[in-house]
Amino acid sequence: MAPGTKQPFGDEQKLAAWLAFNCELGDVITMRQLRAAIGGEDGPNEAEHLNRRLRMLRQRDGWQIPSARDDASLGHDEYRLDAKGWYPGSGKARPRLDTPSDSVRRQVFERDGRACVVCGVAAGEMYDDRPGRRVRLTLGHRVPGKRLDREVSVNELQTECARCNETVRDELPDPVTLPELLPRIRKLPRADKRTLLEWVRAGERTKSKVDLLYVEIRRLSAAERSLMIENLEKGAG
Ligand SMILES: [Zn+2]
Repeated sequence: MAPGTKQPFGDEQKLAAWLAFNCELGDVITMRQLRAAIGGEDGPNEAEHLNRRLRMLRQRDGWQIPSARDDASLGHDEYRLDAKGWYPGSGKARPRLDTPSDSVRRQVFERDGRACVVCGVAAGEMYDDRPGRRVRLTLGHRVPGKRLDREVSVNELQTECARCNETVRDELPDPVTLPELLPRIRKLPRADKRTLLEWVRAGERTKSKVDLLYVEIRRLSAAERSLMIENLEKGAG
């Protein structure tokens, strides 16, 4: 199908409606039943087509439908309905195609070291200027405001805390104004001003070797982290 054309009631919608109205949670469904639901023919191409549609239901529409690949107790032609997602007639708008899947989210957070690329705060930390306010990480588009007619890829996204994320930021009170900020910047040592300039120009907090190591250390086990502290105490003492 040509990009941008609208599919009035495609196979994904048919599958979703059939699953929503004919199946209960925990039901095991066979490939043959799914094929019948969309009026498909037998054959290897059809199986591939069906699996692509199911992948979209999982990624885009929030369905949980494990196959034998996810759960060895299922036969190779079997699927189990664990959670229902969006379907026509659910009374909700279908999730946008460019809403990132859980797997894409994980990959982006992992790549960025679970820290906001704009201001550098990491998951679970508190904001320095807002005691008690815990950092929440979100996904931001590298090109803000761009809406896509297709699935969004890992390379188009970056990790942003809720405060830095363009779309989320509007919902929060303005944290600080320029006149409040300028005197504080004037007091900074020259080297810090240079670093700050570099970050602001780049639009992200470029990470030093120390930053990168810190991110790695945060991911050690508690026991390993204690050993790391002992080790650092010796070295830094
Ligand atoms: Zn941030």
